[in-house]
Amino acid sequence: MNVADSEWVAGLLDKSGYRRTQRLEDAKIILINTCAIREKAEETVHSRLGRLAELKQKDPSILIGVLGCMAKNLADSLLESKPYVDLVLGPDSYRRLPEIIRQRQAGQGRSVDTQLSRFEVYDDLFPTRQSGVNAWLSIMRGCDKFCTFCVVPFTRGRERSRSVESLLAEAEDAIDQGFVELTLLGQNVNSYRHGEARFPDLLTALAAVEGVRRIRYTSPHPSDIDRRLLDVMAAHPNICKSIHLPLQSGADRILRRMNRTYTQGEYLALVARIREVLPDCSLSTDIIVGFPGETEGEFLATLEVMEQVKFDSAFTFKYSVRPGTKAAEYQDQVPEEVKQARLKRLLELQKPISLRRNRAYVGRIVEVLVEKESKKSDRQWAGRTDSNKWVVFDKESARIKDFVDVHIDSSYGVALKGHLVAPSEAYHAVA
Ligand code: SF4
Repeated sequence: MNVADSEWVAGLLDKSGYRRTQRLEDAKIILINTCAIREKAEETVHSRLGRLAELKQKDPSILIGVLGCMAKNLADSLLESKPYVDLVLGPDSYRRLPEIIRQRQAGQGRSVDTQLSRFEVYDDLFPTRQSGVNAWLSIMRGCDKFCTFCVVPFTRGRERSRSVESLLAEAEDAIDQGFVELTLLGQNVNSYRHGEARFPDLLTALAAVEGVRRIRYTSPHPSDIDRRLLDVMAAHPNICKSIHLPLQSGADRILRRMNRTYTQGEYLALVARIREVLPDCSLSTDIIVGFPGETEGEFLATLEVMEQVKFDSAFTFKYSVRPGTKAAEYQDQVPEEVKQARLKRLLELQKPISLRRNRAYVGRIVEVLVEKESKKSDRQWAGRTDSNKWVVFDKESARIKDFVDVHIDSSYGVALKGHLVAPSEAYHAVA
């Protein structure tokens, strides 16, 4: 989401006559787009700002700005503790950026604008994207769910969605620029609603745009996944069969305390429905361990769900207190060493499951979209399957953005290794 927001900001600044530099040392304006979802993300921003202070010391005319969720959350303390920060803008105030930069450069005082809006969706702002394969499409902003551990509803405000027309225009523009994959973004992407249109309607409309070879979306809320969405996914070959389905906890009491609005039983029933309608769909998840009050038995309930579902991958986190949220007030915080030990047990359980899920691909021929050079060798490409598995293979005559058929020879770590069989039929159709 922050990458997509940064592309909007870049688009806005491009239009105002500014140009992106390749080296930090050449920049006269430095903006950090921040995330407040976890404590660690905030710490990273603090240390990055510390390094920028040295640049500003050498050249006081440099302008430093903090944008995004952390700006919204910590505006006062940022200004107080970091006198070299010139401007602080929350996620709904980016439009004011060119004006604020001009004012500051004209000698006006430091600026803060962290007002949230009920309407701002940046519908008319076209992002400046770095060239590539995948274009992010931010379809809605904010969240009305108020999970008790999460700052998003406070830093990003209430849910609002963009019109289908503006998203179709942006998708067509991205295709014209050479992108072949769209990833739809939203804090609660499947809560999308604009007029009569709901998320499955938007997906259907985007899937019909000529040149859209793949569509992904993230992150959905399990409570908002319905049968119609699954049917739409099944009906369109260019909608990827991969769902990120945040579980957070497998224990009903903890789910209630988190305000997640589903029970363990409902979550498992949803997984069964997904696998019935989309048998090849991969599933990933988010888990929080050590949520306040989580007992050993409740942690075991999470492990049981993980064993039962067998996720392809899991993003696992120790609960971290987010000031201002309801869970921060809970008195029964779990000790750090217990959280650490639970995280370790969770990872030990998930690792072999992920490996087994990957090993099941060995011997199969899969269609891969070539996305980039492999990190390990300049003679190999890396690309993803429809089900979001990374595959590495020798380049031969394939090029970036080709859809190719790859025979999977082995699995290692989180990726698969294979060799080119032949360009896929889909690739021939485009070529
Ligand atoms: S649904 Fe997601 S973004 Fe919204 S409050 Fe819950 S965790 Fe945060």
